[in-house]
Amino acid sequence: MFQYQTPPIALRNLQAASQRAAKLWAPPPDLTISEWADQHRQLSAESSAEPGQWYTSRAEYQRGIMDAFSDATVQDVVVMSSAQVGKTEILNNVVAYFVDQDPSPMLCVQPTLEMGEAWSKDRLAPMLRDTICLRGKVKDPRSRDSGNTLLHKIFPGGHITVAGSNSAASLASRPIRIVLCDEVDRYPASAGTEGDPVNLALQRSANFWNRKHGLFSTPTIKDASRIEAAYRDSDQRRYAVPCGDCGEFQYLSWGQVKYQDDDPATAAYECQFCKARWNDGTRYRAVRLGRWQPSAPFNGTAGFHLNAIYSPWVSLSSLVKDWFAAQSSPERLKTFVNTKLGETWEERHEAQTNPQLLLSRCEAYADEDGAPTPVPERVVILTAGVDIQADRIEAEVIGWGRDEESWSLGYFVIPGDTARTEVWRDLDELLSRVWDHPLGLKFRLHAACIDRSYNDAMVQRFLRTTVNRRVFAIVGRAGAVPIWPRKPSHAKGSVFYLVGIDAIKDAIGARLRLAEHGPGYMHFAIGPNYDLDHFEQLTAERKFTVYHHGFPRREWRKKEGARNEALDCRVYGYAALHALYASGLRLNAESDRLGRMLAQSGRTRAEVQAAAPAAGPGEPPPPPPRSTPARGPRIIGRFAL
Ligand SMILES: [Zn+2]
Repeated sequence: MFQYQTPPIALRNLQAASQRAAKLWAPPPDLTISEWADQHRQLSAESSAEPGQWYTSRAEYQRGIMDAFSDATVQDVVVMSSAQVGKTEILNNVVAYFVDQDPSPMLCVQPTLEMGEAWSKDRLAPMLRDTICLRGKVKDPRSRDSGNTLLHKIFPGGHITVAGSNSAASLASRPIRIVLCDEVDRYPASAGTEGDPVNLALQRSANFWNRKHGLFSTPTIKDASRIEAAYRDSDQRRYAVPCGDCGEFQYLSWGQVKYQDDDPATAAYECQFCKARWNDGTRYRAVRLGRWQPSAPFNGTAGFHLNAIYSPWVSLSSLVKDWFAAQSSPERLKTFVNTKLGETWEERHEAQTNPQLLLSRCEAYADEDGAPTPVPERVVILTAGVDIQADRIEAEVIGWGRDEESWSLGYFVIPGDTARTEVWRDLDELLSRVWDHPLGLKFRLHAACIDRSYNDAMVQRFLRTTVNRRVFAIVGRAGAVPIWPRKPSHAKGSVFYLVGIDAIKDAIGARLRLAEHGPGYMHFAIGPNYDLDHFEQLTAERKFTVYHHGFPRREWRKKEGARNEALDCRVYGYAALHALYASGLRLNAESDRLGRMLAQSGRTRAEVQAAAPAAGPGEPPPPPPRSTPARGPRIIGRFAL
């Protein structure tokens, strides 16, 4: 007869060791994360509006996202979502599951260390306390022998390390199997000088064959959003829900949210197939019956997109109310698109900067009597911007009047190999050209800027032939720097000016939107080179918000593949005006002086024109008859070349 006997001590130890070993080598548990959460997870009173037992079915879409983390075929999980869809609890469940069921080293990254501490204290700690199966696994940091802190918690078989994306030191810890990065669109471009914080964090898991990565975020600006880029590389799952009336599955989109008489209380969701209107209750039931559908092939990355229309915690009337409030400013509209719709915000040009519209605004310049004129009467200063390409030189000549109202006088494309001298002779001819002013005056360029970034040797060679003509070699410099520097820069025998192009592009962007002639307005001439292509180039760059070291910064970026020489030439031409300011030009004073001289002369325009002799190219304008000797050149004053 079998009699139970207490095994000897040695045997007992062996059994315990083999049990531990069995646990260590056990295959991953069969529970999915949603099953685990439905069995074990308790929501804490201080962090949840609905404390107590967790139900995945409360927001059914959570099931697919959580279970992707316990799916052995998935390595990366990307969640691009609006706020208020339960993202934080999804992340918490993933953490809790791995503590309880599949212990592993884990890294949780928040945008800053402070936010990491707040998450650890306000979200993680209450969960560890209130979810019974987790109790005792992670010791309370307040107990003396816990060895645990807010940023580092150990448990049998693993640890949770909390990091801030702004702290390279916190990201570079020991090897990690589970890397969870929250709010990645709020991370700086580089953690200190160490590079992309997401890459730094993910590198920690390189040695784990069964590594898991989770990226979560509300998106930000289109084409500058980390989460959007990661989602695009995933299998792009969206959540389809069936209509209670016709049964058709569909993705919930803002365009189907309808209301009457601008009254949020009338908000309803309209089925895109049978036009049935769903109230909030119908919508919640539809979400409960929904399913995730990928729209790209699976390659190991499961991507999920969610907006607040799916959320059982958001009513349609509150969304419509937010929508109305968002109409007050682009900034609030952007917040709505990011945090309610979970979509990136595309910076749009105002209608006035539509290239087609700019083309339609081109003018034929004429003087007050309607006679055509190459230089409008109110122009007092001429500058040029020059862009060098391998096979051509492009240049724009700009006339400036009071308050920087400007008139394009011509856009020139000089074809030819810029490594050879011929094309530079043509450029010299253009920059030496004499321009006829309707009052019989002769203008020459007061200043010009040439981009030295391409073929600086030839640019410098050209500059030796233009001494004392205020032709400057320049290099564009992004960021918050002045338009014209106090001093030139020197490099390898070249002298050049670092020009603050962002400030110029800001000014041009704003001025292209002006609809009324007057201060700052940019007039364009009807002419062969002012075609649609020109205005497409002029509007080829857009301003994006990007994050550097946690701070948003606005940056001008070119559309992919677009040409932008027309914009460059305009930027350099404006820089040349600032070069003149730096040497003492007062544009409005020059404009006043022209006006006074005309009044004093007491002659009619016709007389001035009749009396003004034509100046040959390359010769200084001779003084008009019956005037003080300084009169003619004085109009362009000390800026006469
Ligand atoms: Zn329907």
